Amino acid sequence: MGKPTGFKEYVREVEPYRDATERLIDYKEIYTEHKEDHLRTQGARCMDCGVPFCQSGDGCPVYNLIPEWNDLVYKGRWKEALDRLHKTNNFPEFTGRVCPAPCEGSCVLGINEPAVTIKNIECAIIDRGFDEGWVVAEPPAQRTGKKVAIVGSGPAGLAAADQLNHQGHEVTVYERDDRIGGLLMYGIPNMKLEKDVVDRRVNILREEGIRFVTNADVGGNGDNAVSIEQLLADNDALLLATGATTPRDLPIDNREGPGIHFAMEFLLKNTKSLLDSNLEDENYISAKDKNVIVIGGGDTGTDCIGTSLRHGCKSLVNFEIMPRPPVDRAEDNPWPLWPKIYRVDYGHEEAAAKFGEDPRQYSISGKEFVRDDDGKLIGINTVEVDANFKEVPGTVKFWPADLILLSMGFLGPEHYVSEQLNLELDPRSNYKAQYKDFRTSMDKVFAAGDCRRGQSLVVRAIDEGRLAAEQIDKFLES
Ligand SMILES: Cc1cc2nc3c(=O)[nH]c(=O)nc-3n(C[C@H](O)[C@H](O)[C@H](O)COP(=O)(O)OP(=O)(O)OC[C@H]3O[C@@H](n4cnc5c(N)ncnc54)[C@H](O)[C@@H]3O)c2cc1C
Ligand code: SF4
Repeated sequence: MGKPTGFKEYVREVEPYRDATERLIDYKEIYTEHKEDHLRTQGARCMDCGVPFCQSGDGCPVYNLIPEWNDLVYKGRWKEALDRLHKTNNFPEFTGRVCPAPCEGSCVLGINEPAVTIKNIECAIIDRGFDEGWVVAEPPAQRTGKKVAIVGSGPAGLAAADQLNHQGHEVTVYERDDRIGGLLMYGIPNMKLEKDVVDRRVNILREEGIRFVTNADVGGNGDNAVSIEQLLADNDALLLATGATTPRDLPIDNREGPGIHFAMEFLLKNTKSLLDSNLEDENYISAKDKNVIVIGGGDTGTDCIGTSLRHGCKSLVNFEIMPRPPVDRAEDNPWPLWPKIYRVDYGHEEAAAKFGEDPRQYSISGKEFVRDDDGKLIGINTVEVDANFKEVPGTVKFWPADLILLSMGFLGPEHYVSEQLNLELDPRSNYKAQYKDFRTSMDKVFAAGDCRRGQSLVVRAIDEGRLAAEQIDKFLES
């Protein structure tokens, strides 16, 4: 423990985001530069708890050695901090940017003081590691001769590939998109995670010997199809890390027709166009000068808000079916559970900066989309709902809209791969496999990440990828 009285001397100060009105005009990351003195002071707030709730249980899913690196940062021993960080997390540059930080929700200091700024410290350690040239390719010294195919290049697939490659296995990652990274590339927008940060890590993995095949739709039937039988025949094990990509729809009247899109179609096309041509090819769904309604919250909803604002939308509203959360923890949501409290994410802050108010409307449910005689979308009728999502009579309201984005979560993986393999599914339609075992109902086929557990978090996908790799390694050696 660097400074025993640090938590009494210093207050929590999170690294600020760039000014909301300034960042709205570009797609650069919202973060400001790390400041060493500031981070050391924040590291000094860590109490090096006997039972560090931050790093286990409800805290960090990958069991990051948080008190150790807080202490090392306080002492200015950044290289050692980086080594400790990489022991448990393959990609801290991703989690340091996009993780909601359950570790901070269960930090012991959070019982009566604001938590340690763990996420900022994590990000600063890995960014420093790259700046100093400490993060370099380290190919395995020996190869085992065993071959593993991984389907899907999101954080679960990449973490598993990294682990298996370091164990000496020959790993090939197949990705149906044209770029590697899964939702790190084509879900989470540049503002939260610039894509050269993803490419930088993928290049290291490539240098270390992992083979990446893009435009490879495993089990598909188009021009890019890769035969799943062939993959099974050519490899000693197969890991499915295909994500939970089936979006939840809103099947109310007038759903069919122009103007209504799933959030992922909107976000993917925007990032692809941005990377391909700085949006000049116009191959994206534009929110410019439109009245936009985003239905559904969470990270995906916020990213739709941030992207619509950058396009220059005319107005913006965000519907949440849930009631507005309390400012402080409710009695049934005590520490160390994840605090279900009112938060202002980057998109909400930006909307308030542009339009003068938070865009969120709570306890609202869509009743019917409204179109004119030509089928053009002109808005949506909604109703208010009570805590049990029951309609409150007499609350129908019309909201004008030219573009409605559906961001209501995901219903598990697509099933064309599992159908061909005849895989068992769980009751929520995910590939059935036990956590910490990861074996599917088919011999030598494993599943990890969102396709196994449902849409979750980057850090959980990394955890699943790491643990699945452990099981695959045991299987290959048996
Ligand atoms: C818009 C959005 C924003 C998010 N923001 C955050 C955030 O800020 N913080 C956070 O922690 N989490 C966030 N999440 C959740 C997080 O991104 C996911 O939980 C995580 O990426 C899951 O990782 P995964 O590897 O299991 O799957 P994915 O990242 O979904 O990757 C799966 C990959 O498999 C590929 N694939 C699927 N089928 C095939 C096939 N048959 N052949 C070849 N390839 C295939 C897909 O193209 C995809 O690239 C967000 C999710 C979304 C949708
Ligand atoms: S719970 Fe908080 S104070 Fe305790 S070791 Fe973890 S980061 Fe430090």
